Amino acid sequence: MAKEKTLNDLFLETMKDVYYAEKQGSRMMPKMAKAAKNPELRQAFERHREESEGQVERLEQVFEMLGKPARGKPCESMQGLVEEMKEVMDDFGQSSAADAGLIASAQAIEHYEIARYGTLKTWAAQLGMDDAAKLLDETLQEEKRTDEILSRIAEGAANEDAGQGELSDDDDDAEDESGGPAKEKPKGKSKAK
Ligand code: FE
Ligand code: FE
Ligand code: FE
Repeated sequence: MAKEKTLNDLFLETMKDVYYAEKQGSRMMPKMAKAAKNPELRQAFERHREESEGQVERLEQVFEMLGKPARGKPCESMQGLVEEMKEVMDDFGQSSAADAGLIASAQAIEHYEIARYGTLKTWAAQLGMDDAAKLLDETLQEEKRTDEILSRIAEGAANEDAGQGELSDDDDDAEDESGGPAKEKPKGKSKAK
């Protein structure tokens, strides 16, 4: 008879989803770094590629805590996000908006990861897996930081490169941990394309 499914099962299935997504995302990172024109952006991608390797290892540790083999399960969301990114790179890779497109695609990926790791961390805590929750939170913070760095680059140099002029001036920490994409529109100037 079919066993009733529990939060434990959902946790495991979502772990597989993220494991797949993380690996697919980190495979894209070198391509993104290579495509980036802005050196700061390139560096951000390179750094996050290294981070992603550690994130994969953390997931493997959590699988171990679950007593399950680390195994991925195709994540259609990440597949779709990667497809979109490739399309933008094909269509805009040679344009002055190349970096803006790269950042936008990368942030969509980070936001998916933030959603997933936030959920997994909460479930791990609810399931009494405090060590797993801690590992998942470490990754969550890295994804959030990456998202913030990308926002900062987008607000500054990438827009400048795209010919919009006017670096958004010293907006110190107005936009802190919200984790969203460039929320605060720089005053004046045209709205996003
Ligand atoms: Fe990641
Ligand atoms: Fe997914
Ligand atoms: Fe990430």
